[in-house]
Amino acid sequence: MLELLIRNGQVVTPQGAGAWEIAVQDGKIAAVAAPGTFREATRVIDAAGKVVVPGGVEPHTHLAHRIQMHPDDDLQTLGPEDDSRGMAFGGTTTHVDFAFVRPGDDLPSVVERRAARWKGNSYTDYTFHITLAGPLPLKTFDAIPEAIQQGFPSFKVFTTDVLPPHPKRPSNRLDFGRLQYAMEKVAPRGGIMVVHAEDHDVVQFMYERFREEGRMDGANLPLVHNKVSEMLSFRRAINLAAIMDAAIYFVHTSAREGVEAVAEARGLGRPIYAETLHHYTCFTADDYRSPRGFCYHTYPSLKYPEDQAALWDGLLNDAVSTTATDEYPTTLALKLRGKTIEDVTGGNLGAEARMGIVYTEGVVKRKMSLERFVQVTSSNAARILGLYPGKGALAPGSDADVVLIDPAISRTLTKDDFHVSDYSPWEGWDVRGWPVTTLLRGKVIVENGRLHGDTRDGQLVKRKIDGAVLSRPAC
Ligand SMILES: [Zn+2]
Repeated sequence: MLELLIRNGQVVTPQGAGAWEIAVQDGKIAAVAAPGTFREATRVIDAAGKVVVPGGVEPHTHLAHRIQMHPDDDLQTLGPEDDSRGMAFGGTTTHVDFAFVRPGDDLPSVVERRAARWKGNSYTDYTFHITLAGPLPLKTFDAIPEAIQQGFPSFKVFTTDVLPPHPKRPSNRLDFGRLQYAMEKVAPRGGIMVVHAEDHDVVQFMYERFREEGRMDGANLPLVHNKVSEMLSFRRAINLAAIMDAAIYFVHTSAREGVEAVAEARGLGRPIYAETLHHYTCFTADDYRSPRGFCYHTYPSLKYPEDQAALWDGLLNDAVSTTATDEYPTTLALKLRGKTIEDVTGGNLGAEARMGIVYTEGVVKRKMSLERFVQVTSSNAARILGLYPGKGALAPGSDADVVLIDPAISRTLTKDDFHVSDYSPWEGWDVRGWPVTTLLRGKVIVENGRLHGDTRDGQLVKRKIDGAVLSRPAC
């Protein structure tokens, strides 16, 4: 007999939204069929009144990660055992974290170490970008082809040391010479560059200048990690990628200038993709001045209303392909610990809220289609990073990662809506529509506000990026 049947919902498939039923067998979707096709199943979920979408793909988390804003203390963000519980409640079933390769590290053992840290400790499926951080010896790059073959085809680089220099803070920046060298290894073998693009000279000069001028208040961060820096760096990376035939996924696009650079490149047919963060679309630089203002901070920084407008335009239309969190879960005390431009704690805590916020702000408030909602919360990240169609699709053969959103829910979020830390930046936010049921490979991991999943449920997912994604703007 059929393992599971989800009926009566409005189901969003790659072909569009409609009244389908979903048949699940052995953790996979066996069929998406007309109502009444299947008579019985061991378990039936009645999705009447619900919107049924593929499990969210969170493409950007930093879990169990050393906190570099406070280098004198050996602090870490919360791990997958805490954060992925929130993802399960919030309808995200796969997340992509990072394996940092620094000078002296060898690439396969770094990936192995991260995979060992996650194994048995995640409620959701997971994988890792490989971060090429700092002045790496050239021989490190020789391991890239093998890593791509092993199912890790995305390579993260920082074009700036995000923070000012400190003796206990390792450099993250990959210089443009090494970036070109990485592209030379990555592009011909089916990989993609994942780029944190800010202009190093501009950012570091601004730290120096603001320090000298005594303007240390963290609310000045948008002037340090500024719009000019985003414009210069996005365009420099895009130009390099054009020469190297490389594809780029720009993380946390924050400014209109970034969106414009990506839109222009896509207009020329180049495989360039932008991610933004849902809090960049909901908060602005003014919010830094509110009592818990630094809750909303991630690097580069919150920007201005015109930037929000450009990010929404990109999400609704074409230029921005994905939403992510830059997840960096900590306690509230730790998140609010820094107050100056040099020590405000970066990263965000919002992977749990991402699906619900984008539903409210996109679908309900800005008339985003359900198909587009699925693209920007799940299927585009899956395609760009090589998880598709196993992840990101309600289609026969895909993993049965399924989320039911209840569009009738209308409430103001409180601390009790969240399951990771002692706060959420989204407390007090009004939502209409919220995820209520989450399935991971056919197993119900959250239902009616109760957690049924286990940290042993999450599995490491191997990836391969479709050639179309790497040769033109495919999504
Ligand atoms: Zn990040």
